[in-house]
Amino acid sequence: MSYVDEVIAKVIEQNPAEPEFHQAVTEVLESLRPVIEANEEAYKKDALLERIVNPERQFKFRVPWVDDKGQVQVNTGYRVQFNSAIGPYKGGLRFHPSVNLGIIKFLGFEQIFKNSLTGLPIGGGKGGSDFDPKGKSDREVMAFCQSFMTELCKYIGADTDVPAGDIGVGGREIGYMFGQYKRIRGLYEGVLTGKGLTFGGSLVRTEATGYGLLYITEELFKDHGETLEGKTAVVSGAGNVAIYAIQKAHQLGAKVVTCSDSTGWIYDPEGIDVELLKEVKEVKRARLTEYAAARPSAEYHEGRGVWQIPCDVALPCATQNELHLDDAKQLVANGCKAVCEGANMPTTIDATKYLQENGVWFIGGKASNAGGVATSALEMSQNSERLSWTFEEVDKKLKDIMVNIYHNIDDAAKRYGCEGDYVVGANIAGFEKVAEAMTAQGIC
Ligand code: NDP
Repeated sequence: MSYVDEVIAKVIEQNPAEPEFHQAVTEVLESLRPVIEANEEAYKKDALLERIVNPERQFKFRVPWVDDKGQVQVNTGYRVQFNSAIGPYKGGLRFHPSVNLGIIKFLGFEQIFKNSLTGLPIGGGKGGSDFDPKGKSDREVMAFCQSFMTELCKYIGADTDVPAGDIGVGGREIGYMFGQYKRIRGLYEGVLTGKGLTFGGSLVRTEATGYGLLYITEELFKDHGETLEGKTAVVSGAGNVAIYAIQKAHQLGAKVVTCSDSTGWIYDPEGIDVELLKEVKEVKRARLTEYAAARPSAEYHEGRGVWQIPCDVALPCATQNELHLDDAKQLVANGCKAVCEGANMPTTIDATKYLQENGVWFIGGKASNAGGVATSALEMSQNSERLSWTFEEVDKKLKDIMVNIYHNIDDAAKRYGCEGDYVVGANIAGFEKVAEAMTAQGIC
């Protein structure tokens, strides 16, 4: 059995009931085969892969809070500090009922390589809770966030571990958690990113993941002698990533005709009205039915279905495993040229393979949604300097980072004879730097 197969088997055996984590490890290690086989003896002797698939540490804690009826509720909180070879742990917090340790570990594992790809000094981590902010009052969300941070604050710090937002954690939640951290630790430091602009946040952080996704997509098209001008795009999701992906796609001349949420989806042949979408989702926190009600050109459909709409580019921006093999077949049949992931692992492994085998340019989330964490790292730099950069400065840095990522992953794929396989390229480029740093730092 090869070293890669041995480690995958061990991960599955030692981490039962964590399918998303198995999926992430399998996907990454499978694609690293050429690099690992070239260094198998040294890596095996140092147990490099066993170390990389085991978090440096993980915390699981009780989060009690009182709801508006005076009833005590109890949720579970997690923080996984996966790998600090190249910098302090960095990765978002997710509040969603589906959160469990396996999901946090899959996200934390992916984060190691994504953070490495940005070229910035940040290690990999992830956290969250099975708390559902939906339908909760502001006071309930604050009570939860304060209780969550009361425990989390023991493990994080500006130079050790710097969480950010993710699904269910936006500016409001980050603000409540930052306030509680400051109160308990007595420190005004950049311990969280995604902060409000009046207390250390960075311009462009809100837009960064969606904008970054479009910058890399634009570079991909440019590298193939095309532009996004006049192209039709389908987007899933209607949250932070989706909204700003749609906005930037429109600025770059493409037309986005779909979006979706956890209950249904919109087809709007005239192009999604971003301001209306922001009003429905960011301000009213309502369902997409409200978008359709306010926009005569839009059709609302229950369930899932955005991938059936003919397009040149598909941008999954909602959640993991939301683009299946059947969807991939439909996209190929409709002549889709590119799929670039805004969400983390939205495309299943068989769907990814099908897209790649059928000539669709496919960039995985690790590379294409790295703009969010890259801008978080820029927020950390500004906090350390106690300065704030202008929107244009941050946006330019973000664009440069995404363009660099594209060329790094493209080059890495070519170096190992896998030209055009951006998934392999991203894993290799991300892994090489982490592996070198881990090796240089000795067995730890
Ligand atoms: P948000 O919570 O802002 O939005 C998530 C969107 O996806 C919402 O529209 C939500 O619907 C929808 N959604 C959530 N779960 C499901 C589901 N099971 N089925 C269908 N739709 C669903 O999250 P973000 O936009 O921040 O994150 C989206 C993805 O991007 C995640 O995978 C996240 O990990 C990833 N990501 C985010 C980054 C960021 O900077 N925000 C950075 C890098 C990656 P509803 O409106 O009904 O809740």
